[in-house]
Amino acid sequence: MIFPNILFFSFALLPIVTHSAPTTIVLPPTPQTLRECGTSSVVDLDAEAQVSYAISRIESENARPGENVSFAPIAPGATTIDVYVHVVQANSSLEGGGLSQSDVEAQIAVLNEDYDSTGFSFDLVDVNSITNPIWFHYVTNTEEGLPYATEMKAATARGSAKDLNIWTVGFSTVGTLGYATFPWNYTTDPTSDGVVLRFDTFPGINSGVYNLGRTATHEIGHWLGLYHPFQGKKILLLHPLSSLTFHLASSSGECEGNGDNVADTPRQLNATYGCPTIKDTCILAPGSDSVHNFMDYSDDDCLTEFTPGQIERMNAAFETYRAGS
Ligand SMILES: [Zn+2]
Repeated sequence: MIFPNILFFSFALLPIVTHSAPTTIVLPPTPQTLRECGTSSVVDLDAEAQVSYAISRIESENARPGENVSFAPIAPGATTIDVYVHVVQANSSLEGGGLSQSDVEAQIAVLNEDYDSTGFSFDLVDVNSITNPIWFHYVTNTEEGLPYATEMKAATARGSAKDLNIWTVGFSTVGTLGYATFPWNYTTDPTSDGVVLRFDTFPGINSGVYNLGRTATHEIGHWLGLYHPFQGKKILLLHPLSSLTFHLASSSGECEGNGDNVADTPRQLNATYGCPTIKDTCILAPGSDSVHNFMDYSDDDCLTEFTPGQIERMNAAFETYRAGS
Protein backbone atom coordinates (compact mmCIF):
# COMPACT_ATOMS: atom_id res chain seq x y z
CA MET A 1 0.00 0.00 0.00
CA ILE A 2 3.00 2.30 0.14
CA PHE A 3 3.52 2.10 -3.59
CA PRO A 4 1.07 4.85 -4.54
CA ASN A 5 2.90 7.27 -2.28
CA ILE A 6 6.22 6.23 -3.69
CA LEU A 7 4.90 6.74 -7.16
CA PHE A 8 3.43 10.09 -6.28
CA PHE A 9 6.67 11.42 -4.91
CA SER A 10 8.79 9.81 -7.59
CA PHE A 11 6.83 11.52 -10.30
CA ALA A 12 5.95 14.65 -8.41
CA LEU A 13 7.87 16.80 -10.87
CA LEU A 14 6.00 15.39 -13.82
CA PRO A 15 2.55 16.70 -14.71
CA ILE A 16 0.19 13.84 -14.01
CA VAL A 17 -3.52 14.01 -14.53
CA THR A 18 -5.69 11.40 -12.95
CA HIS A 19 -9.19 10.97 -14.28
CA SER A 20 -11.96 8.52 -14.90
CA ALA A 21 -13.30 7.90 -18.39
CA PRO A 22 -15.09 9.53 -20.11
CA THR A 23 -14.16 13.00 -18.94
CA THR A 24 -12.44 15.19 -21.48
CA ILE A 25 -8.94 15.79 -20.28
CA VAL A 26 -7.04 19.01 -20.46
CA LEU A 27 -3.35 18.39 -20.12
CA PRO A 28 -0.63 20.92 -19.45
CA PRO A 29 1.38 22.13 -22.44
CA THR A 30 4.71 20.56 -23.16
CA PRO A 31 7.47 21.36 -25.62
CA GLN A 32 7.19 19.42 -28.84
CA THR A 33 9.06 18.88 -32.03
CA LEU A 34 6.78 17.87 -34.84
CA ARG A 35 7.62 16.61 -38.27
CA GLU A 36 7.63 19.27 -40.88
CA CYS A 37 5.76 18.84 -44.09
CA GLY A 38 6.16 20.93 -47.18
CA THR A 39 3.00 19.77 -48.86
CA SER A 40 0.42 22.49 -49.19
CA SER A 41 -2.40 20.03 -48.66
CA VAL A 42 -1.32 19.54 -45.07
CA VAL A 43 -2.85 21.65 -42.35
CA ASP A 44 -0.25 23.37 -40.22
CA LEU A 45 -1.37 22.88 -36.69
CA ASP A 46 -1.45 25.92 -34.47
CA ALA A 47 0.39 25.78 -31.17
CA GLU A 48 -2.61 24.69 -29.17
CA ALA A 49 -3.48 21.96 -31.62
CA GLN A 50 0.10 20.75 -31.70
CA VAL A 51 0.03 20.31 -27.97
CA SER A 52 -3.19 18.36 -28.06
CA TYR A 53 -2.04 16.16 -30.91
CA ALA A 54 1.35 15.44 -29.53
CA ILE A 55 0.18 14.68 -26.04
CA SER A 56 -2.55 12.21 -26.59
CA ARG A 57 -5.43 10.80 -28.52
CA ILE A 58 -7.75 12.63 -26.19
CA GLU A 59 -11.40 12.01 -26.63
CA SER A 60 -14.59 12.17 -24.76
CA GLU A 61 -16.73 9.16 -25.11
CA ASN A 62 -19.96 7.72 -23.96
CA ALA A 63 -18.39 4.94 -21.94
CA ARG A 64 -19.48 5.25 -18.38
CA PRO A 65 -17.34 3.89 -15.57
CA GLY A 66 -18.87 0.63 -14.52
CA GLU A 67 -20.75 0.11 -17.77
CA ASN A 68 -19.94 -3.52 -18.36
CA VAL A 69 -21.80 -4.79 -21.40
CA SER A 70 -20.98 -8.42 -22.08
CA PHE A 71 -22.35 -11.01 -24.52
CA ALA A 72 -21.30 -14.23 -26.20
CA PRO A 73 -18.80 -13.67 -29.02
CA ILE A 74 -19.41 -14.98 -32.52
CA ALA A 75 -17.09 -15.72 -35.43
CA PRO A 76 -16.63 -13.03 -38.07
CA GLY A 77 -19.03 -13.02 -40.98
CA ALA A 78 -18.96 -10.85 -44.09
CA THR A 79 -20.70 -7.58 -43.36
CA THR A 80 -20.65 -4.53 -45.60
CA ILE A 81 -21.48 -1.32 -43.74
CA ASP A 82 -22.94 1.59 -45.68
CA VAL A 83 -21.18 4.81 -44.71
CA TYR A 84 -22.52 8.37 -44.88
CA VAL A 85 -19.88 11.04 -44.34
CA HIS A 86 -21.03 14.52 -43.36
CA VAL A 87 -18.24 17.05 -43.87
CA VAL A 88 -19.21 19.92 -41.59
CA GLN A 89 -17.02 22.88 -42.50
CA ALA A 90 -16.55 26.47 -41.39
CA ASN A 91 -15.75 27.25 -45.03
CA SER A 92 -14.60 25.30 -48.05
CA SER A 93 -10.86 25.67 -47.40
CA LEU A 94 -8.99 22.70 -46.00
CA GLU A 95 -8.19 24.65 -42.84
CA GLY A 96 -11.90 25.35 -42.57
CA GLY A 97 -12.68 21.65 -42.58
CA GLY A 98 -13.42 21.42 -46.30
CA LEU A 99 -12.41 17.82 -46.93
CA SER A 100 -12.68 16.68 -50.53
CA GLN A 101 -14.27 13.55 -51.95
CA SER A 102 -10.80 12.06 -52.38
CA ASP A 103 -9.90 12.88 -48.75
CA VAL A 104 -12.95 10.92 -47.65
CA GLU A 105 -12.20 8.06 -50.01
CA ALA A 106 -8.67 7.86 -48.58
CA GLN A 107 -10.18 7.48 -45.10
CA ILE A 108 -12.53 4.73 -46.26
CA ALA A 109 -9.56 2.92 -47.81
CA VAL A 110 -7.76 3.00 -44.46
CA LEU A 111 -10.83 1.57 -42.75
CA ASN A 112 -11.09 -1.27 -45.25
CA GLU A 113 -7.42 -2.06 -44.73
CA ASP A 114 -7.54 -1.90 -40.93
CA TYR A 115 -10.75 -3.97 -40.71
CA ASP A 116 -9.63 -6.49 -43.32
CA SER A 117 -9.39 -9.32 -40.78
CA THR A 118 -12.65 -8.54 -38.99
CA GLY A 119 -15.35 -9.49 -41.50
CA PHE A 120 -16.43 -5.84 -41.83
CA SER A 121 -15.99 -3.71 -44.92
CA PHE A 122 -17.09 -0.14 -45.55
CA ASP A 123 -18.94 1.15 -48.58
CA LEU A 124 -19.01 4.93 -49.02
CA VAL A 125 -22.56 5.79 -50.06
CA ASP A 126 -22.51 9.58 -49.89
CA VAL A 127 -20.38 12.57 -48.92
CA ASN A 128 -22.44 15.50 -47.73
CA SER A 129 -20.65 18.86 -47.36
CA ILE A 130 -22.33 21.27 -44.97
CA THR A 131 -21.12 24.79 -44.28
CA ASN A 132 -22.01 25.56 -40.68
CA PRO A 133 -19.34 27.38 -38.64
CA ILE A 134 -21.31 26.94 -35.42
CA TRP A 135 -21.41 23.16 -35.68
CA PHE A 136 -17.83 23.08 -36.93
CA HIS A 137 -16.51 25.00 -33.94
CA TYR A 138 -18.82 24.02 -31.11
CA VAL A 139 -19.92 20.40 -31.53
CA THR A 140 -18.38 18.27 -28.77
CA ASN A 141 -19.43 15.46 -26.49
CA THR A 142 -19.46 17.81 -23.53
CA GLU A 143 -22.37 19.49 -21.81
CA GLU A 144 -21.69 22.68 -23.74
CA GLY A 145 -21.30 21.01 -27.12
CA LEU A 146 -23.96 18.30 -27.01
CA PRO A 147 -26.88 20.54 -27.95
CA TYR A 148 -25.04 21.46 -31.16
CA ALA A 149 -24.21 17.79 -31.79
CA THR A 150 -27.82 16.79 -31.26
CA GLU A 151 -28.99 19.46 -33.69
CA MET A 152 -26.36 18.49 -36.27
CA LYS A 153 -27.12 14.79 -36.10
CA ALA A 154 -30.88 15.23 -36.18
CA ALA A 155 -30.61 17.38 -39.30
CA THR A 156 -28.24 15.16 -41.25
CA ALA A 157 -28.18 11.48 -40.14
CA ARG A 158 -29.08 8.85 -42.71
CA GLY A 159 -29.87 5.15 -42.64
CA SER A 160 -30.57 2.91 -39.65
CA ALA A 161 -28.73 1.08 -36.87
CA LYS A 162 -26.65 -0.97 -39.30
CA ASP A 163 -25.45 2.10 -41.22
CA LEU A 164 -22.53 4.28 -40.16
CA ASN A 165 -22.80 8.06 -40.03
CA ILE A 166 -19.50 9.94 -39.70
CA TRP A 167 -19.40 13.67 -39.07
CA THR A 168 -16.17 15.66 -39.39
CA VAL A 169 -15.93 18.87 -37.37
CA GLY A 170 -13.27 21.16 -35.89
CA PHE A 171 -13.56 20.48 -32.16
CA SER A 172 -11.94 23.89 -31.96
CA THR A 173 -12.28 24.45 -28.26
CA VAL A 174 -11.05 21.14 -26.85
CA GLY A 175 -8.31 18.60 -27.55
CA THR A 176 -10.77 15.98 -28.70
CA LEU A 177 -9.94 13.91 -31.78
CA GLY A 178 -13.14 11.94 -31.91
CA TYR A 179 -15.96 10.23 -30.08
CA ALA A 180 -18.46 7.51 -30.81
CA THR A 181 -21.67 5.98 -29.57
CA PHE A 182 -21.90 2.31 -28.62
CA PRO A 183 -24.27 -0.13 -30.35
CA TRP A 184 -26.30 -0.74 -27.19
CA ASN A 185 -27.06 2.99 -26.99
CA TYR A 186 -29.03 2.81 -30.24
CA THR A 187 -32.31 1.57 -28.78
CA THR A 188 -32.69 4.42 -26.34
CA ASP A 189 -30.94 7.13 -28.35
CA PRO A 190 -31.03 6.34 -32.08
CA THR A 191 -30.56 9.91 -33.23
CA SER A 192 -27.14 10.20 -31.57
CA ASP A 193 -25.77 7.08 -33.25
CA GLY A 194 -22.49 7.45 -35.11
CA VAL A 195 -18.96 8.76 -35.01
CA VAL A 196 -17.76 12.37 -34.82
CA LEU A 197 -14.16 13.03 -35.86
CA ARG A 198 -11.89 15.99 -36.00
CA PHE A 199 -11.56 16.59 -39.74
CA ASP A 200 -7.78 16.66 -39.79
CA THR A 201 -7.47 13.14 -38.42
CA PHE A 202 -8.25 11.93 -41.94
CA PRO A 203 -5.18 10.54 -43.76
CA GLY A 204 -2.51 13.08 -44.63
CA ILE A 205 -4.39 16.16 -43.44
CA ASN A 206 -2.43 17.09 -40.33
CA SER A 207 1.29 17.15 -39.73
CA GLY A 208 1.26 15.33 -36.40
CA VAL A 209 1.37 11.75 -35.20
CA TYR A 210 -2.36 11.06 -35.64
CA ASN A 211 -2.43 11.64 -39.36
CA LEU A 212 -2.97 8.21 -40.90
CA GLY A 213 -6.72 7.97 -40.38
CA ARG A 214 -6.61 5.60 -37.44
CA THR A 215 -8.70 7.83 -35.19
CA ALA A 216 -11.61 6.70 -37.37
CA THR A 217 -10.52 3.08 -37.04
CA HIS A 218 -10.45 3.48 -33.26
CA GLU A 219 -13.79 5.28 -32.94
CA ILE A 220 -15.56 2.81 -35.23
CA GLY A 221 -14.21 0.10 -32.95
CA HIS A 222 -16.32 1.71 -30.21
CA TRP A 223 -19.27 1.99 -32.62
CA LEU A 224 -18.93 -1.78 -33.06
CA GLY A 225 -18.84 -2.44 -29.31
CA LEU A 226 -15.20 -2.33 -28.27
CA TYR A 227 -13.79 -0.66 -25.19
CA HIS A 228 -10.24 0.47 -24.56
CA PRO A 229 -7.89 -2.30 -23.41
CA PHE A 230 -7.42 -0.25 -20.24
CA GLN A 231 -11.19 0.06 -19.72
CA GLY A 232 -12.28 0.37 -16.11
CA LYS A 233 -8.79 0.92 -14.81
CA LYS A 234 -7.57 3.81 -12.82
CA ILE A 235 -6.15 5.79 -15.69
CA LEU A 236 -2.94 7.54 -14.87
CA LEU A 237 -1.77 9.75 -17.68
CA LEU A 238 1.96 10.01 -17.58
CA HIS A 239 3.89 12.83 -19.11
CA PRO A 240 4.35 11.73 -22.75
CA LEU A 241 8.00 12.71 -22.84
CA SER A 242 8.75 10.27 -20.09
CA SER A 243 9.30 6.65 -21.00
CA LEU A 244 8.54 5.58 -17.46
CA THR A 245 5.57 3.34 -16.86
CA PHE A 246 3.79 2.34 -13.70
CA HIS A 247 5.26 -1.12 -13.25
CA LEU A 248 4.82 -1.02 -9.50
CA ALA A 249 1.13 -0.32 -9.79
CA SER A 250 0.48 -3.86 -10.96
CA SER A 251 1.06 -5.06 -7.43
CA SER A 252 -1.65 -2.80 -6.04
CA GLY A 253 -4.62 -4.83 -7.25
CA GLU A 254 -5.73 -2.23 -9.78
CA CYS A 255 -5.13 -4.68 -12.62
CA GLU A 256 -8.07 -6.87 -11.58
CA GLY A 257 -11.58 -6.76 -13.01
CA ASN A 258 -13.30 -7.40 -16.32
CA GLY A 259 -11.44 -4.70 -18.22
CA ASP A 260 -12.74 -4.52 -21.79
CA ASN A 261 -14.66 -7.82 -21.61
CA VAL A 262 -12.33 -9.32 -24.19
CA ALA A 263 -10.39 -12.35 -22.99
CA ASP A 264 -7.34 -12.05 -25.21
CA THR A 265 -6.44 -8.40 -24.56
CA PRO A 266 -3.96 -8.46 -21.67
CA ARG A 267 -4.74 -6.49 -18.57
CA GLN A 268 -3.52 -2.93 -18.87
CA LEU A 269 -3.55 -0.11 -16.38
CA ASN A 270 -3.33 2.98 -18.53
CA ALA A 271 -3.36 4.37 -22.05
CA THR A 272 -0.29 4.19 -24.28
CA TYR A 273 1.22 7.25 -25.94
CA GLY A 274 3.84 7.30 -28.65
CA CYS A 275 5.00 3.81 -29.58
CA PRO A 276 7.01 2.25 -26.77
CA THR A 277 8.91 -0.93 -27.51
CA ILE A 278 8.20 -2.35 -24.08
CA LYS A 279 5.19 -1.48 -21.91
CA ASP A 280 3.65 -3.79 -19.34
CA THR A 281 1.61 -2.06 -16.68
CA CYS A 282 0.22 -5.30 -15.22
CA ILE A 283 3.34 -7.40 -14.87
CA LEU A 284 1.68 -9.98 -12.65
CA ALA A 285 -0.95 -10.69 -15.34
CA PRO A 286 -0.21 -12.55 -18.61
CA GLY A 287 0.87 -10.56 -21.64
CA SER A 288 2.07 -7.01 -22.07
CA ASP A 289 0.10 -3.86 -22.92
CA SER A 290 -1.77 -3.65 -26.22
CA VAL A 291 0.54 -1.00 -27.63
CA HIS A 292 -0.27 -1.90 -31.24
CA ASN A 293 -3.98 -2.40 -30.74
CA PHE A 294 -6.31 -0.01 -32.57
CA MET A 295 -8.19 0.55 -29.30
CA ASP A 296 -5.17 1.90 -27.41
CA TYR A 297 -4.03 5.54 -27.76
CA SER A 298 -0.66 4.99 -29.46
CA ASP A 299 0.49 6.98 -32.50
CA ASP A 300 -1.26 6.15 -35.76
CA ASP A 301 1.78 4.44 -37.28
CA CYS A 302 2.01 2.22 -34.19
CA LEU A 303 -1.50 0.78 -34.51
CA THR A 304 -1.80 -2.44 -36.48
CA GLU A 305 -4.24 -4.91 -34.99
CA PHE A 306 -7.47 -6.12 -33.46
CA THR A 307 -7.31 -9.37 -31.48
CA PRO A 308 -9.45 -12.41 -32.39
CA GLY A 309 -11.45 -11.77 -29.23
CA GLN A 310 -12.16 -8.19 -30.23
CA ILE A 311 -13.21 -9.33 -33.70
CA GLU A 312 -15.65 -11.82 -32.19
CA ARG A 313 -17.04 -9.16 -29.87
CA MET A 314 -17.56 -6.70 -32.73
CA ASN A 315 -19.38 -9.30 -34.78
CA ALA A 316 -21.55 -10.27 -31.82
CA ALA A 317 -22.36 -6.65 -31.05
CA PHE A 318 -23.29 -5.96 -34.66
CA GLU A 319 -25.50 -9.05 -34.81
CA THR A 320 -27.15 -8.19 -31.49
CA TYR A 321 -27.71 -4.47 -31.87
CA ARG A 322 -27.33 -3.43 -35.50
CA ALA A 323 -28.12 -6.20 -37.98
CA GLY A 324 -31.69 -6.57 -39.07
CA SER A 325 -32.48 -2.90 -38.78
ZN1 LIG B 1 -11.56 5.47 -27.56
